Amino acid sequence: QKQTCIITGASSGLGLAAAKALAATGEWHVVMACRDFLKAEQAAKKAGMAPGSYSIMHLDLSSLESVRQFVNTFRASGRRLDALVCNAAIYMPTAKEPKFTADGFELSVGTNHLGHFLLSNLLLDDLKNAPNKRPRCIIVGSITGNTNTLAGNVPPKANLGDLSGLAQGVPAANPMMDGQEFNGAKAYKDSKVACMMTVRQMDKRYKDSGVTFASLYPGCIAETGLFREHYGLFKTLFPPFQKYITKGYVSEDEAGRRLAQVVSDPKMDKSGAYWSWSNSTGSFENQVSEEVADDAKAAKLWDLSAKLVGLA
Ligand code: NDP
Repeated sequence: QKQTCIITGASSGLGLAAAKALAATGEWHVVMACRDFLKAEQAAKKAGMAPGSYSIMHLDLSSLESVRQFVNTFRASGRRLDALVCNAAIYMPTAKEPKFTADGFELSVGTNHLGHFLLSNLLLDDLKNAPNKRPRCIIVGSITGNTNTLAGNVPPKANLGDLSGLAQGVPAANPMMDGQEFNGAKAYKDSKVACMMTVRQMDKRYKDSGVTFASLYPGCIAETGLFREHYGLFKTLFPPFQKYITKGYVSEDEAGRRLAQVVSDPKMDKSGAYWSWSNSTGSFENQVSEEVADDAKAAKLWDLSAKLVGLA
């Protein structure tokens, strides 16, 4: 059997591009874990992915029950698991009111962080049994959650505060992790901070598992569906701004190759790392913000998350 990589949210953008890059090597079978089966199938065909190089399995990260069902379906398929890529995300920068997952969590934190938190913990045993001996668990991070960067300093800045909102399950009455008023852009950034902290905690807690845990910022992929809910003018100006002013722009194909590299490059097997790329010199291990590096806060985040998804 070929090595298997599960990629969540592989129906568009970065996830699709990485699925395409991995499948094209001929060494990987990609399980596209998506909420919209038809969209995923059409996207895979349009991307020219060879039949048999991928399969699509239903996963809606905004429901913990769906996450559990996905894990059962994957196990029933009898496939080995060599890599898990937690890539899917929802971003609602213009939302005035919060939305919620099936379990009542604010949608960005519930989908981007809590859904993936449950998924990665449930699949850990499967990864441990990977025959390739170098299994990897990757959660996509973002520069916007790292306040040690210019992009991370554009307000509203990420900040998990005292985690008092998360302690309650980011419910309608208290939808932000820090217990402050709802802000859609901040909720996304906070969820990405939580993703990067989770990777660092996994590295600490599962040190002896043989699994490599990593996070990354692939560059600004200014044209993906992530910005679908943004204002029209923003969508027009953002790609050229990133291309010519910040120079952080990266195409979907190049970002997909970068993510595929974190999955399969033998040189990128350092656990706990947060990878970034320079256009001239390629990949390097980047520094995370002070908050992401706060391991005591990350441990608290872990305990609260485990309770909310029913693991503790
Ligand atoms: P896209 O919107 O193109 O892709 C997001 C994917 O997530 C889609 O496939 C979407 O599915 C899926 N998704 C959303 N909600 C759910 C859900 N409830 N269950 C299952 N899947 C879901 O955005 P990108 O490709 O840009 O984003 C991918 C990752 O890259 C994210 O983690 C994002 O934070 C990160 N990132 C993106 C950057 C950028 O500049 N674009 C920069 C840094 C990081 P559907 O197609 O059905 O909507």
